[in-house]
Amino acid sequence: MLTIAKTSELRQYIVALKRQGVRVGFVPTMGYLHEGHLSLVRLAKGCSDKVIVSIFVNPTQFNDPQDYAKYPIDLPRDSRLLEQEQVDLLYTPSRESLYGSDFQSWVEVAELCREHEGAARPGHFRGVSTVVAMLFNLVQPDVAVFGEKDFQQLRIIEQMVEDLKFPLEIVRGPTVREADGLAMSSRNVRLSKAARPAALLLSQGLFSARTSFAAGQKNAARLCATVQDFLERSSLINPEYVRVVDEQDLKTLELVKDRARLILAAFVDGVRLIDNIELGARA
Ligand code: AMP
Repeated sequence: MLTIAKTSELRQYIVALKRQGVRVGFVPTMGYLHEGHLSLVRLAKGCSDKVIVSIFVNPTQFNDPQDYAKYPIDLPRDSRLLEQEQVDLLYTPSRESLYGSDFQSWVEVAELCREHEGAARPGHFRGVSTVVAMLFNLVQPDVAVFGEKDFQQLRIIEQMVEDLKFPLEIVRGPTVREADGLAMSSRNVRLSKAARPAALLLSQGLFSARTSFAAGQKNAARLCATVQDFLERSSLINPEYVRVVDEQDLKTLELVKDRARLILAAFVDGVRLIDNIELGARA
């Protein structure tokens, strides 16, 4: 596996790939990799000739400087994991190479970023869509893989690709969970010993609501109440929102007619976690 940090070197590498007609698969990440990230790498491998993974902790998507400062980093370990997955190129740009001192162009997906994570973390999605647009321009992938774990982010990227005519396909990767159901996240390492079992209540609540949906419950308030009931079982949990939203426009629903997503965000002993589950076809 090749590792490149410099923009000029990346450009040379991409020009050579394009000349050979190679189909490029891309997985952008912020590192501290886990099985969730690796599942996206495997998906990318399955639909491309060469796989490029980027690791960049993007400062502009952190609305809380403390959160940015505390974001876990372990490049040697990540590198080893990607090597094992036979990734072709690891791209590790520096902050300066992506954001010069005079940076002033932003991408904003106006409607989809308004609510939920967008409201809770002002500026977050502007940072995400901008850096992803930049990475797409640099890497020029034919296919890019994003996780359903960050469902609003996934929808925003899909919308951006459609609106701005990026010539690539977005593939969705299902959420990978720990054996007990907790959605894998780089932030999970920050959970204290006491917080870890409490964090489990998030996925348990979602699973329980999905069961109730499958048994005929289509009322969003009732489905959310099922989740809330789980979250209230631990004093370490401070819920931020629990909502049923439309799969496409992410508007909050009162009644599920077709397919929907049950989404939530909660602080667990000070660590902010998000999770979601599909209500519909697979429920
Ligand atoms: P991050 O490093 O958190 O920016 O995530 C990079 C990519 O991995 C994003 O597309 C995420 O949605 C995806 N991802 C994060 N956690 C998981 C997970 N548990 N299962 C599947 N994909 C994930």
